[in-house]
Amino acid sequence: MQQIGILGGGQLGMLLARSIRALGAEAIIYEPDGRAPACQEARHTFNGSFKDEASLARFFDKCDSVTYEFENVASELLFEFEKEKPLYPSASVLKTTQDRYLEKSFLKEAGLPHAAFELVTAPEKLLASVEEFGYPCVLKTTRGGYDGKGQWFLRNADDVREHLEAVANRKDATQKEYRVVLEEALDIAMEASCIAARSADGSEIAFPIFENMHKDHILDFTIVPARLPDTVAEKIKEVGMKAAKELSVIGLLTTEFFLTRTRPRKSNSIEVDNWHLLINEFAPRPHNSGHVTTKACTLSQYDALAKILMKQPLEEPVASSAGYYCMGNILGDVYLSQNEKHADAGDDRLHTLDTSCREAHPAVVDVILYGKKEARTGRKMGHFITHADTAEQALEAAKAFRKALSNS
Ligand code: ADP
Ligand code: MG
Repeated sequence: MQQIGILGGGQLGMLLARSIRALGAEAIIYEPDGRAPACQEARHTFNGSFKDEASLARFFDKCDSVTYEFENVASELLFEFEKEKPLYPSASVLKTTQDRYLEKSFLKEAGLPHAAFELVTAPEKLLASVEEFGYPCVLKTTRGGYDGKGQWFLRNADDVREHLEAVANRKDATQKEYRVVLEEALDIAMEASCIAARSADGSEIAFPIFENMHKDHILDFTIVPARLPDTVAEKIKEVGMKAAKELSVIGLLTTEFFLTRTRPRKSNSIEVDNWHLLINEFAPRPHNSGHVTTKACTLSQYDALAKILMKQPLEEPVASSAGYYCMGNILGDVYLSQNEKHADAGDDRLHTLDTSCREAHPAVVDVILYGKKEARTGRKMGHFITHADTAEQALEAAKAFRKALSNS
């Protein structure tokens, strides 16, 4: 039986491991925290650190092919290991996409649309750089950011000073090695994502386009198909597939897009039917927005990646039925809210969720909890999917279900 390795043990790894098993191989998880979601799904787990070369070598040795479900693995080590075993996507793809500056430089060189940007490597030069670049802009750390962490929205010199004070007071890497990008703040009308999949034999597919709604910089809801004209959705797919090809991705490439209705001030966008498209960032792995594919499409993002890793043929994913699907994240906040209402039940509630209200919500077609041991504000603990005739109904049903969960 083939042994497929996954670096990282979060929910994306957990759902990928399920697909690997269902398609007839074994998943091996490399994850320091033995209680992480994916570890529950695997026969073998390696609980070493991501810096432990000897332990990583033993893991690669056991696997027939390897992938990763998060981006903070040192690509330097992976360049060595991929000489021995197929790593999909490659260490080079990971290196480019795990650093915002390299990622944006790639977009520029490949002629792909993106927000105008500039690299700043010294705090004392920031104010002058920003004044020259122009307000409003968004400052982002080049490495390690997720769910809006490591980002500052800058409207004026006071915001710049506030950011610099925050950095001066921090003892982490932001201060030790200051390396940030400035990018034009866009007047975003919609965010969308496109997941492309490419296999070693050169076949390539793309999923329908997802419309993504964020709250506090964290993905809140994903609707599929996105409420866009077909011409715009087709263009997004074309650009997403071009990016995957230019990056030579084998595996999955999620491309996050910003869409505006007015031409951006400094950035080069692609215009289709009065929509302006720009690439925000890539994730060379399954994506939170792609959870929705498990119900909405004839092939899920997890099955697609599992097939690529197992060298099985890919088929084009199409909508599994008419109408719209909506995926909603369940954050720790929902658990904490239930916990507050049942203070007598003690801490148990921090890792269990009462989902019995689902019976009263027939539009809900799936609920998946990740089994994380502790709920925290903003932490992704689970998700669910609704299905309805219209996008608005699917979204309303998702909002109503999550409210009912919080009030249970
Ligand atoms: P992360 O790695 O945290 O996902 P992103 O670059 O995707 O970082 O930013 C998170 C969210 O912040 C985006 O989905 C978008 O809602 C908002 N955002 C990021 N960059 C910009 C920008 N240039 N203009 C306006 N909003 C932005
Ligand atoms: Mg993002």
